[in-house]
Amino acid sequence: MTGPLNITSIRVRVLSPPEGSLKAVCSVTIDEAFVIRDLKVVANDKGTFIAMPSRRVSDRCPQCAAKNSISARYCNDCGTRLPQRRPTLDRSGRPRLYVDLVHPISSECRVHLQAAILQAYTAECASMGEQVEAGASGEAPHPQPAPESPPGTPTATSSGAT
Ligand SMILES: [Zn+2]
Repeated sequence: MTGPLNITSIRVRVLSPPEGSLKAVCSVTIDEAFVIRDLKVVANDKGTFIAMPSRRVSDRCPQCAAKNSISARYCNDCGTRLPQRRPTLDRSGRPRLYVDLVHPISSECRVHLQAAILQAYTAECASMGEQVEAGASGEAPHPQPAPESPPGTPTATSSGAT
């Protein structure tokens, strides 16, 4: 293996318009054999980075067994008041409402993966920009004729002068 991950393909879907800080959703193929979907490109005032596929932390209603977010106070399904739960806190002391489904365990791997995805994201944005420019210049050769002298006007003017 040449790098921490042998990334053989990256597919980027740039969101247009972006959904807040969420700019794109990607899937990454490892070794032409294993696909990770739903990686996200996020940009905010701290920079542009990737977010791992994640799921909401949930548990089940004691009354009807429906799944609810760990932060929900009432069951979405039956409305029962849910017991007070204590979501685990992340490093900055906020409740952890999402958990990563896959994630790199070495910083080398994280850096490698993020660099590859951001490169693909930048390339995709650039190619979208070119398409937009090509479309705009494609309309330029077909300007509408200026409606200043319609065919009937000279007749009307001459009859009026006569
Ligand atoms: Zn319920």
